[in-house]
Amino acid sequence: MSGRSAVFLDRDGTIIEDAHYISDPAAVRLLPGAAESIASLSHAGLPVIVVTNQSGIARGLFDEAAYASTARRLDDLLAGAGARLAGHYHCPHHPDFTGPCECRKPGPLLYRRAAADHGLHLARSWWVGDRLRDVLPAERFNGRGLLIGQAAPHELTSAAGRFPVVQDLATAVGIILQ
Ligand SMILES: [Mg+2]
Repeated sequence: MSGRSAVFLDRDGTIIEDAHYISDPAAVRLLPGAAESIASLSHAGLPVIVVTNQSGIARGLFDEAAYASTARRLDDLLAGAGARLAGHYHCPHHPDFTGPCECRKPGPLLYRRAAADHGLHLARSWWVGDRLRDVLPAERFNGRGLLIGQAAPHELTSAAGRFPVVQDLATAVGIILQ
């Protein structure tokens, strides 16, 4: 399989503050250094793709249009800082409400879709997020994962020896670009 390397980023708690079931664009707030980190990946020729679980949709807390408005707000905030995402992918499901699916992280579907849409080589790509489920796909696809160290203690234990744990997105990007 050919294709470009990419960086798959979680959204809430990785790029923006995790405000729990964000449905209002006004609640989208960039974490310090996130925009600069994304810009440096893009400048290095690495497409940056957001993959996010949005079970608030399955739970009936907000709808697809509200999610889309938060995604647009993120794009606008990033553009203001000279950064751009190559794509947004989200899973609207939750097994308790909508049954099993292949797209909820760590499921593979959204990564396969992104690879097809953007011509990506998954085994040469990176996964970064603040939860274990964000980085587990790196094992499935033979890529590399970096766990941002806000994860719950049991997740850090599970990650030990499998994924480096880093302070924040800027630190992760420093490793990716070195
Ligand atoms: Mg997160």
